[in-house]
Amino acid sequence: MDSGDGVSLPSACPDARKRRVSYFYEPSIGDLYYGQGHPMKPHRVRMAHSLIVHYNLHQRMEIIRPFPAGAADICRFHSAEYVDFLSSVTPDTINNENNAQKVKRFNVRDDCPVFQGLFGFCQASAGGSIGAAVKLNRQDADIAINWAGGLHHAKKSEASGFCYVNDIVLGILELLKIHKRVLYIDIDVHHGDGVEEAFYVTDRVMTVSFHKFGNDFFPGTGHIKTIGAGEGKYYALNIPLRDGMDDESFRCLFRPIIQKVMEIYQPDAVVLQCGADSLAGDRLGRFNLSVKGHADCLRFVRSFNVPLMVLGGGGYTIRNVARCWCYETAVAVGVEPDNNLPHNEYYEYFGPYYTLHVEPRPRQNMNSARDLEKIRCMVLDQLSKLQHVPSVPFQTMPPTTRVPEGREDMEVRAKPRIWNGEEYASDGDEDDIPQQ
Ligand SMILES: [Zn+2]
Repeated sequence: MDSGDGVSLPSACPDARKRRVSYFYEPSIGDLYYGQGHPMKPHRVRMAHSLIVHYNLHQRMEIIRPFPAGAADICRFHSAEYVDFLSSVTPDTINNENNAQKVKRFNVRDDCPVFQGLFGFCQASAGGSIGAAVKLNRQDADIAINWAGGLHHAKKSEASGFCYVNDIVLGILELLKIHKRVLYIDIDVHHGDGVEEAFYVTDRVMTVSFHKFGNDFFPGTGHIKTIGAGEGKYYALNIPLRDGMDDESFRCLFRPIIQKVMEIYQPDAVVLQCGADSLAGDRLGRFNLSVKGHADCLRFVRSFNVPLMVLGGGGYTIRNVARCWCYETAVAVGVEPDNNLPHNEYYEYFGPYYTLHVEPRPRQNMNSARDLEKIRCMVLDQLSKLQHVPSVPFQTMPPTTRVPEGREDMEVRAKPRIWNGEEYASDGDEDDIPQQ
């Protein structure tokens, strides 16, 4: 499956193509429901799982039901007050008078509603990513996958952009117990703000986010000049892009930048957030990547043969999310699945072609070759300022979360929203096909 155009570093396996893959899956996640018309549908994780099973990919990896993360695990990043609220609030108590202030303060409303089973969802998502880290720490797996993770917008004491608990930060903190340097790569269409913020002032985690930027696109952060601070200066990289990014343009940025990052930073472990809202035809995203183009990022990162955690994230045209994460699971285990989808319980979602791959519709790429070249040069130039692999005082955990200036008055200001609240009645009704 490795086409040979990746990077060949020595592999621990006798067969350089093979990787030991652990896959974390909580079956009850598919039952959760954010609310009518809400674009975030945990059901997509079960659809992906169904494809994975019907392609027999589960036989090529270890399937693990995650341990639900406990409040104490979650508090390694999040504030106790916030976790306490998440674990106790229900749709019935949300409107109680004594909750009014907390709802506002923790932003658990609008984009991030309280729904039945919310905390269980957070526990499963975080438990999967922490479990994946433990698996990699013990060298029991080369790649650990958690499609229910990747919820990159959650902040220390605040829900944001459909995310409540930042499983990524928790997973990285677990990796840092064993690994000196962790590289975080984010290919969701939105900026990976929660993870960047958590590790903004440390060199033990380097964050690299490729995302749409401009025209008030959520969350509004991720400017190319945002590069980290203090010890973490130059250890945050941002690649801001315009609408219509296609496979070729994405590959021409992703590969050279990540190649350079791997050379210079030499991470001991990599976390790849595979948000699928960067795919063509996403309800909220504005990029134009095919599943193969999206998966090329994983293929390239995998080729370095460094312990790798693979996470989900956004993705709102759920038939395509399922296609993408199934195909990426195949890339992880090293097989090329047939383009004709096997029969599965969600088969009717995938009409009219019933194929794994769907050609993106032609769409104008607003990123000119010149702009992309400029971005590539600027980012590579920033990387050249990192002369050495940082030497790490290993006993110290990095501080998480810097409170950006001016953040104190956030409570009174309107929070940016990832979704305008429309129900998209004319677009994607088919995603709401009720289960039989
Ligand atoms: Zn997103």
